[in-house]
Amino acid sequence: MASFGKVVVEKNKYRIKGDFHNLTQNEPIRDKDDGWRLLGVTNPRDMTYIHSYGGEAAFFEGLSEGKLLGTRCDDKGCKYKGTIYIPFRIHCPDCLGRNTVVDFTDLAKKTGTVHTFMVCERSGAFNALDKPIKFINIEFEGVDTILMSYLSLGDPKIGMKVVPIFKTTSPTYTILDLSWVPAGTKAADLPEGFSF
Ligand SMILES: [Zn+2]
Repeated sequence: MASFGKVVVEKNKYRIKGDFHNLTQNEPIRDKDDGWRLLGVTNPRDMTYIHSYGGEAAFFEGLSEGKLLGTRCDDKGCKYKGTIYIPFRIHCPDCLGRNTVVDFTDLAKKTGTVHTFMVCERSGAFNALDKPIKFINIEFEGVDTILMSYLSLGDPKIGMKVVPIFKTTSPTYTILDLSWVPAGTKAADLPEGFSF
């Protein structure tokens, strides 16, 4: 059995260990209506992709600690100084300066409101969410962008007050560690591994 590849950074270099690509036994594809004539083969293969977060790493680390981090342009020379971004944007799209990272967890808890939503009965490959998936777009007071995420409990409605929940137990360090529930939800009702 192959061991999944692991990566650590040491002395500013990626150190990789284990297998990052595995070939497994292939199978013939045959035509059962034509004497099991050979038509082709399947090619099963697994690969481990190394996904670097770069300047967004702080955002994903924040989710694992129960924090929603966003950013703000504090550049004095920027015409749009003070613009706040959730989702997290490393750079200001107007002045291209590096934004300041700000903890907006409290703001999200107090002012998170469903702007619009979409319920998906089907999903693509590798989907890890329960279906139907209730995608919601969330607006916050004073924030200039709208965040796309998913509602874990209840049915979405436009204008509904929602609060963030975080997968702080066994986090995946992906966007799935952030979800939302209707304001007033009890801690005991949250999905496994999630907390306020
Ligand atoms: Zn700017």
